[in-house]
Formats: sequence, C-alpha cells, structure tokens
Amino acid sequence: MIQITMPLNFLGTVYREIRQALVDMGQMFGLLLQPAEITDKPGAAALRVAGGHIRLEDVHFAYDPERPILQGITLDVPPGQTVALVGHSGSGKSTIGRLLFRFYDVTAGRLTIDGQDIREVTQDSLHRAIGVVPQDTVLFNDTIYYNIAYGRADATQAEVEAAARAARIHDFILSLPDGYATTVGERGLKLSGGEKQRVGIARTLLKNPPILLLDEATSALDTQTESDIQHSLREMGQGRTVITIAHRLSTIADADRIVVLEAGRILEEGTHEALLARGGRYAAMWALQAAEEEAEAA
Ligand code: ADP
Ligand code: MG
Repeated sequence: MIQITMPLNFLGTVYREIRQALVDMGQMFGLLLQPAEITDKPGAAALRVAGGHIRLEDVHFAYDPERPILQGITLDVPPGQTVALVGHSGSGKSTIGRLLFRFYDVTAGRLTIDGQDIREVTQDSLHRAIGVVPQDTVLFNDTIYYNIAYGRADATQAEVEAAARAARIHDFILSLPDGYATTVGERGLKLSGGEKQRVGIARTLLKNPPILLLDEATSALDTQTESDIQHSLREMGQGRTVITIAHRLSTIADADRIVVLEAGRILEEGTHEALLARGGRYAAMWALQAAEEEAEAA
C-alpha cells in the first residue's frame, strides 16, 4: 500500500506544481502553453530583490521574425512606483508584461530587475518576485481556501484569512455554505467576476511579491465593481513596484507615470496632468473616454 500511495502522492504534488506554473506563466496572459524554450542558464543565481527597480533598455521583440512588435522600448520603473502602460489594442502592452515574466526572451536590448538581467537569474526566483493579476482570475475546482493558498503551500490558515480580509473577501467567504471549505470553480460554486478578482488579489497578497503586474485586471468588470476592486489594487500596490496595464484611463490617472505605446514604441510619457497639458495622444484618448462615459451616463 505504502509503495503505491507514495508515488501517487508525489505525482499529485508534481501535477499541482505544474498546474500552478502553467497558470502563473500562461493563462495569466491568455496563453495556455509556454511557447518558447526558456531555460535557466547553467549555474543561474536567484534574483536578489532590493527594491524592485525595473528597467527596460532599448528592448526589441518579435514573436515572428518577420513582424517586429516592440521596437526599442526604454523604460525605467523606480522601486515602489506605479507606471501605467496605455495604448491601443495590439500596441504591445501585454507583450512587455510577458517579457518581464520571461515568458519570452527579448530579441535585442535587456530587461533588468535591481540591476540583474532577468536572463541571468533562475525563473523560479523571477516568478516568485512578480505577482500577476490578470483580466480573469482562474479558479480551480477546489476549495476557496486552496484557491487562495495554492501559490504558497506553506501558508498558515491565519495567513490565508489575513489575505482574504485585506482583499475584502473574508466576510463573503464566511457567508458561503461551507466557508473556506466551499468548492468553487466551474464544477462548484460560481463566483462573480468581482469575487473572482478578489480571490486573485488575496492569492497575490499571500504571495507578497515586491513587483506587481496588473494586466487589465479590472477591465472585465462593471464600472461599480471595477472601482471597488481598484481600491483594493491600489492598497496592494503600496510599497511595491507596479506595472499596470489599463484600458479605462480613469483607473490609472493617479499613476506616478503614464506611458503611451503605439505600434511597439513609446509615443509619450508623463503624469496625467503633464500629458493632458501636452495635448497629444493621451489627451485625445482621455477626451474620447470622457465623452463615452458621459454618453453612457446620459
Ligand atoms: P496589447 O496588450 O497592447 O493589446 P499585445 O502585446 O498583446 O498588445 O500584442 C502586440 C502585438 O503582438 C499584436 O499585434 C498581437 O497580435 C501580437 N501578438 C501577441 N501575442 C502573440 C503571439 N503569441 N504570437 C504572435 N503574435 C502575437
Ligand atoms: Mg493586452
């Protein structure tokens, strides 16, 4: 009996780890499988995070050599700051996130965190340093407890509950038929978009990464839920370096810096006020969204 259950348990652990890695790296960005052969360099060291200073130095990237996507992106995100990436669909925003996570390697230039080229460090340490909140949080057909804790197998119940409280989902969980033991996901209790995002936030808070990547984290939600969740995301961003990708500009207007991308290049950057005063692309996008919101409200 023992000889049989031990390997099976072991496989279960491996399966969970693989499943976790896949979700972290793939589904976060709407990709199911790791497309490129990214491996650790022999003898790669763990990333040493000091403050989470992210730099892109003249980064070029193409998924297909025939079609360049990023064409010389230089971007500095100082420790503890929030930089927002905006721009039309297809301008390369999510690609920057995928490169930061080293889902792909840059074709030229380099990307560093606290001075270390991310190609020189272990992927495991890189992925531990970055928390991703995607547009849709993926829930497993498992307990809500498991769904929050899965990124950190060693978390205690008290830590899981503290994360849920900070994400403002603890009271909701207690109201469920079996509390934290309630099965959620496709084959369990279905959660609303906002509830799923809160689970995602709790999961990320528990992981406690120094760097956060929010890729249209609230764009699948209605406006009221979005502003609720935005509040939690802002709290989560305190003391961390944040790259946030947003469709609705009102959600990123208070970022330390806003970077406008177009066709894989930086078109303009600055604070919300500076970009409005400049009267360029951002100002035009802002005016357009304000008019749309007014039309919606009317
Ligand atoms: P954004 O997030 O700004 O909407 P993306 O970074 O997702 O834009 O995409 C930038 C460009 O790269 C788009 O033209 C898109 O079609 C292309 N692209 C994205 N992912 C892939 C992929 N896996 N393979 C090939 N092309 C891709
Ligand atoms: Mg995108």
